[in-house]
Amino acid sequence: MPPTPDAHQGHAPDCIFCKIAAGQIPAQKLYEDEELLAFDDINPAAPVHFLIIPKRHLPSLAHAGPADAPLLGKILAKAPELALQRGCNPYPQGGFRVVINTGEEGGQEVHHLHVHVMGGPRPWRK
Ligand code: ADP
Repeated sequence: MPPTPDAHQGHAPDCIFCKIAAGQIPAQKLYEDEELLAFDDINPAAPVHFLIIPKRHLPSLAHAGPADAPLLGKILAKAPELALQRGCNPYPQGGFRVVINTGEEGGQEVHHLHVHVMGGPRPWRK
């Protein structure tokens, strides 16, 4: 069962991505600022596969409202720069895929909003 969808702010005690954001669990970090963290996916589905998360605990995209629009925009706007930095080939021959799994039927396993960014030469798993 996913954790109770409560918090729009702060940490959720048993959330693995909150622990990564707090530096309590190691991750291969690509970018960090006061609001965001990007790190390599531990089980990559493509030659380049990293995640971008808000540091505060937002359980899923289903929990986002108008007040979260600047944060979500900032996450998406960071993806192209980090994709190139991580080794994705440039658009249009290269490019990348952005995925936000949301809820059980959306395939979400970690209930802290995260944006998958995948790229590199095909084929990929996902
Ligand atoms: P799915 O596994 O179906 O893609 P999610 O969209 O919830 O579900 O994705 C969670 C992602 O988090 C997975 O790609 C998984 O490999 C990754 N992951 C889980 N634990 C860690 C970790 N400690 N460090 C980096 N990535 C992790």
